[in-house]
Amino acid sequence: IIVVKDLHKSFGNLEVLKGIDLIVNRGEVVSLIGASGSGKSTLLRCLNRLETISGGAITIDGIPLNESLKHVSQFRREVGMVFQQFNLFPHMTVLENVMEAPIQVNKVTKDEARKIAVNLLEKVGLSEKQDVYPRKLSGGQQQRVAIARALAMNPKIMLFDEPTSALDPELVGEVLQVMKQLAKEGMTMVVVTHEMQFAREVADRVIFMHNGLIEEQGNPQEVLVNPNSERLKSFLRMIK
Ligand code: ATP
Ligand code: MG
Repeated sequence: IIVVKDLHKSFGNLEVLKGIDLIVNRGEVVSLIGASGSGKSTLLRCLNRLETISGGAITIDGIPLNESLKHVSQFRREVGMVFQQFNLFPHMTVLENVMEAPIQVNKVTKDEARKIAVNLLEKVGLSEKQDVYPRKLSGGQQQRVAIARALAMNPKIMLFDEPTSALDPELVGEVLQVMKQLAKEGMTMVVVTHEMQFAREVADRVIFMHNGLIEEQGNPQEVLVNPNSERLKSFLRMIK
């Protein structure tokens, strides 16, 4: 569903992605790991078209990313993204946060949007919080709202950029639980995470990035337990 060929991305003179080749299959859960600055977030942002690419090609669900503007909004619709910072709209209730994109972007009626939002909030375990404002929620609850908000667009792919790293440790589990459930339902997911337990339990494949390139990849067992690359070995020692 995602095909990336020889992707390059530079910011001025700084080449951040140096030729990434990647295929993600429908329903696959891919975990991206790597040192700070290795280009993980930049890769996700390219997939979501938050960044323009400097070279190579990305195709999502058969649509080449470089095509005309007409496709941009469709792209955004097909690819949901959840960030480290939840970025909820502070002046809207939880329910309104989740309803916003379907109304504004997908042009569904308010009633339909409400139905979608109520369902999704139930799914992430926050039905009782629907009329509350984000500041009244814990970080874990806010992140679950952010996930529901991304899902409200009915995306085919979900991208997560360190969704739990801003959370207190005791709140990490509830967010990972929602993500695990999504994975089980067959969502295609690319997840940047330092949660090795999530990578081990949920990911079909783990990709280790180093310095703008994919250094090693494989199933979690291979990559996390029996790594080949020396860089990956020292990275894993460092985060344990
Ligand atoms: P981290 O684990 O710290 O989040 P990362 O692997 O996600 O790191 P990126 O955020 O992709 O790394 O950044 C890769 C490199 O690109 C870094 O050197 C960063 O400074 C640079 N970079 C990222 N975004 C920009 C930007 N908008 N302008 C200039 N340089 C940028
Ligand atoms: Mg990052």
